[in-house]
Amino acid sequence: MSPTVAIIGAGFGGLCMAIRLQQAGLRSYTVFEKGHDVGGTWRDNTYPGAGCDIPSHLYSYSFERYSSWTRRYPGQPEILAYLEMCADKYGLRPHIRLDTEVVSAAFDEALGKWRVRTASGEELFDVVVSAVGQLNQPHLPDLPGMSSFAGRSFHSARWDHSVDLTGRRVAVIGNGSSAAQLIPPVAEAAAHVDVFQRTPNWVIPKPDAVFAPAARAAFRLPLLQRAYREWIYRYAEGTLYRALTGGWSTGLLRKRALDHLHAQIPDPELRARLTPDYPVGCKRVIIDSRFYPALARPDVDVVTDRIARIVPEGVETSAGLREADVIVYATGFRSTDFLSPIEVTGRQGRRLGDEWKDGAEAYLGIAVPHFPNLFLLYGPNTNLGHNSIVFMIECQVRYIMGCLPYLADRGPMEVRPEAMDSWRRSLERAMGGTVWQAGCTSWYKNAAGRVTNNWPGPTPLYRRLTRTPRPAAFHFAR
Ligand code: NAP
Repeated sequence: MSPTVAIIGAGFGGLCMAIRLQQAGLRSYTVFEKGHDVGGTWRDNTYPGAGCDIPSHLYSYSFERYSSWTRRYPGQPEILAYLEMCADKYGLRPHIRLDTEVVSAAFDEALGKWRVRTASGEELFDVVVSAVGQLNQPHLPDLPGMSSFAGRSFHSARWDHSVDLTGRRVAVIGNGSSAAQLIPPVAEAAAHVDVFQRTPNWVIPKPDAVFAPAARAAFRLPLLQRAYREWIYRYAEGTLYRALTGGWSTGLLRKRALDHLHAQIPDPELRARLTPDYPVGCKRVIIDSRFYPALARPDVDVVTDRIARIVPEGVETSAGLREADVIVYATGFRSTDFLSPIEVTGRQGRRLGDEWKDGAEAYLGIAVPHFPNLFLLYGPNTNLGHNSIVFMIECQVRYIMGCLPYLADRGPMEVRPEAMDSWRRSLERAMGGTVWQAGCTSWYKNAAGRVTNNWPGPTPLYRRLTRTPRPAAFHFAR
């Protein structure tokens, strides 16, 4: 009998898992999705200018290549449409429960099954696959007076489209990848934009290109499409990854970013404020060609004075009041919380939140000791700063599919603590060679400074390590 599988989340990860189960003829799965439709981050992030800085010919499933991308870096609507198309094409919709948030999942040792609870009640599943991602809980800063603001305010991932920015004064707090994408179109519409920058970011150009109908027709040739995908992958791996690990391209990446800054910001005083003082890649490098020109506009100010509080009229800084009609919090996500706020309980009443109090961790980023038959997609230490997350998700889905045949014969499987210890040691060793640990704060690390989000190795190594499950790493119930 095929195992019953609960998948939490219908973004890139959850849909990939569902497709592979469907293709294997394992139809006893349910995808729980708290939002009103599929798409995950691509459904949530509808801010103006939203898009991906990894070319979509790579940022898409390897088994569902798509020739119709209209440009190298398509916008959010195209990526969302791709995911919706996948949900339809692979017949996933009957298995997806929308507007259904999983509030808890508890492993029942007597039954050897998971009790998955939603607002509509509790259901039993053999396996739980978390596909909630790392960037799904918006982070709002804890600034005094936020509720006193007299205008409209919202987070970048909860864009309020009812607010017309035309002719308004807009304050954007934060200057990460989301801010970099939304500031240029906001500046086009608004009367004035204040960008509140706490730390400058390294920015490199985005070599975008429109694909004319002839190019799209050419991409229908599987060979060409495969070659282009492979080229993007190899470039990211051979050049960008090397720069994140102190390799040959580190200086090159820094030079590219500085050249970009010099070319696009003529004012030396602004340029100085936009120049980071930490190693390139320590924080996520922004890939964008429209951000700096927007910051250089006369109606845009980069404010580096410390924010003291929010007041009804706007943002009060150490240098005085900056009036605003609208505040956009482009302040990122609670990235190190992982499955939170879902209450996950494993064997002997162990709570995942407690197990992870010093930082989330999982064997291969997929399995956690004491939590049998719980598998994670895009889990701890599987984020990338240089390549496509979809690649990592596909590796993880293949691994989980490889685990399922064991369950029928040998019952629930649980990764051994020794396997986890050895995994942790190798991660720590590899992490030492990366640029992420020292010199900056970033969403890759928890409050204690431990890098809980990123994969420190090359992605072909991750593919190799996750090719097939190693039974010796697991304890089986039978
Ligand atoms: P982010 O990179 O975490 O940036 C958050 C920004 O808010 C930072 O500038 C941060 O400043 C600032 N901030 C946070 N709390 C603050 C406070 N209390 N006071 C003042 N400033 C504060 O978040 P994001 O821009 O949403 O991007 C998150 C990730 O999503 C990206 O790194 C990327 O992986 C992904 N993303 C990707 C794309 C894409 O094209 N693929 C687009 C958007 C997002 P500090 O730097 O000083 O902390």
